[in-house]
Amino acid sequence: MEASKVIRKVHMDCPLCDKKHDVEERKRLASITIKGDKVDYEEHFFYCINADEEEREFETGAMANENLLNARNAYRVLHGLLTSEY
Ligand SMILES: [Zn+2]
Repeated sequence: MEASKVIRKVHMDCPLCDKKHDVEERKRLASITIKGDKVDYEEHFFYCINADEEEREFETGAMANENLLNARNAYRVLHGLLTSEY
């Protein structure tokens, strides 16, 4: 298991345990394969301390999009493709 780091705590309706409580937002280094290349990128996720040990992680739709963007950016950096897009 990759080591993860707590960024902040968010008080929210937790979809895992159905309670309103402080959920930890964490980040860790993850890797994904894009077009045959393994790319390391920063992945964010929420962590519910109340859920079963194997099922404590979840992400929102916005967070999933952000993770995907991070992965794509990492891919572009890897291939020197950070060009006029910005
Ligand atoms: Zn919860």
